[in-house]
Amino acid sequence: MSTKRPLRAKLATSVSLGAAALSRATGRGDGSVIGGRLGLMIDPNLLANLATGRQIALVSGTNGKTTTTRLTAAAMGVLGDVATNSLGANMPTGHTSALARAGSTEYAVLEVDEHYLPEVLTSTQPKVVALLNLSRDQLDRAKEVAMIADLWRRTLAQHPVHVVANADDPMITWAAAGATGAGAGVTWVAAGQRWHDDSWVCPDCGSHIERAVASNGAAVSNMPVAPEPESAPAPPADPPETPTGVQVVDEVTVVASGDGTLDGATELITAVPAPANGGHPSATMARSHADRPAGSVDERTLLMPTVPVPEAAHPAGRPLGSAGSHPATPVLAPIATPQTVADTIPGLPAVSALPAVPTDPTATTADGADWRCTGCALRRPTPQWRVEGDAVIDPTGRAHTIQLQLPGRVNRANAATALAVAAEFGVDPALAAPRLAQVVSIAGRYAQVQRDGRDVRLLLAKNPAGWLEAFDMAEDVPTLLSINSRDPDGLDTSWLFDVDFSPLQGRRVLITGERAYDLAVRLDINDIPFTHVNSFGKALRSVPAGRVEVIANYTAFQDIRAELDRVN
Ligand SMILES: [Zn+2]
Repeated sequence: MSTKRPLRAKLATSVSLGAAALSRATGRGDGSVIGGRLGLMIDPNLLANLATGRQIALVSGTNGKTTTTRLTAAAMGVLGDVATNSLGANMPTGHTSALARAGSTEYAVLEVDEHYLPEVLTSTQPKVVALLNLSRDQLDRAKEVAMIADLWRRTLAQHPVHVVANADDPMITWAAAGATGAGAGVTWVAAGQRWHDDSWVCPDCGSHIERAVASNGAAVSNMPVAPEPESAPAPPADPPETPTGVQVVDEVTVVASGDGTLDGATELITAVPAPANGGHPSATMARSHADRPAGSVDERTLLMPTVPVPEAAHPAGRPLGSAGSHPATPVLAPIATPQTVADTIPGLPAVSALPAVPTDPTATTADGADWRCTGCALRRPTPQWRVEGDAVIDPTGRAHTIQLQLPGRVNRANAATALAVAAEFGVDPALAAPRLAQVVSIAGRYAQVQRDGRDVRLLLAKNPAGWLEAFDMAEDVPTLLSINSRDPDGLDTSWLFDVDFSPLQGRRVLITGERAYDLAVRLDINDIPFTHVNSFGKALRSVPAGRVEVIANYTAFQDIRAELDRVN
């Protein structure tokens, strides 16, 4: 058996390479998939065999994995040649092909589809796994976010792998916290999370996850922030809006203290009335966190008056939730303390295993603000790596300036993750950082193309979280949106209704693609005027010379690239 396996692996590798070469020669793509598939048919353990003897990093998450894989491979280049599936073939066939093609490199960085991470982790026994983010994607076929997080958590518990994880994504944090076995560990990166709608609910206990508000006053959550009270309570207000897909029982918005953490912050609590109160509208009041021990979770025996009420309206010592002069004071049951939750839920990391109260400066940014579960010990770990302006700050506090050719805060965060992964292989971030500037457009993403006097930039956005990031990157110029719903895109376009298009307010907006009318309905609801055009070419001709932003989902993006006759 032991002599057979390598021979079979050699044969499988040869066939794999031959098929890939044939595929390329006949113009049928780069051959990663067909080559890998044939190789795995001959030797089902080919991926494991090809991985043996290499030091491997895997990169997974809903968004940014292709870019982060490229950045990580560039950072790891300090050590020598690095094998990578740079063309985004991110399933085992693609990994097999990439390793077969690379020959005997000592290092490999592989982008992995979220659903295949357990399988690939088992096959390749990586040294490091980078987990970026989890959000809804391809609604017609992808697993629910919480299911993926659970799958990852259980998988990581079985492998001695080091995890580099995004501390700003509660789902990622919970999954990564599963890496508790011998030889496992976690490095936390403040990689940000603009999209919150898949992590309002704790994956462990089902309680609400509360988030701080940025020091600039911008609400990190899209939950309503109660206005500053000016005088005595006003008449009952309308019930608060409920975020999409969340059943709110106890709605909490926390206004952070100056450092962006929750502690010492003022909390505005809104609670749904108990039926006994005759359905009286919900209520809000302000109180301070300062009087409770750091890291503790509120015991919400309270329930609140109707509308924003000044602190003075509730003299010290008055039991919160007692009727007082406010008629609507339903009472919520107290929420368990972290320890009692940890004691009763199997698999939850002990309270002491969670990092201490975050006090790092990253918490002052809207995307790196503090969060925690209101029902258990899950909370934002203190990140060791973070982004500050154009620099990545490493665990020793050194700042490494990153001059990326890729736009947006999200790519600086991807760079931080790349440097954190490379550091686990012994790469000095000071040596790796300059290499990140060499990474340019990846398969056309972020490409800038001159055409007919227009300076066109292409942004790929495949799901709601990706669209929010694209809006952040896009300049305030004429913007073309294009949506298809072919197989690679996912057939269900209802996710468009999850995206808030209001950042496009005031811009010239054009729409195209096979599902342009879905976009039209969505934009109309957001009150954003638009023009429908039949093609990318027509869109270009209808805007003045100068900068044009294009945001498109997968096959719509490919169509536009083809129209631009641009390979990369
Ligand atoms: Zn929880």
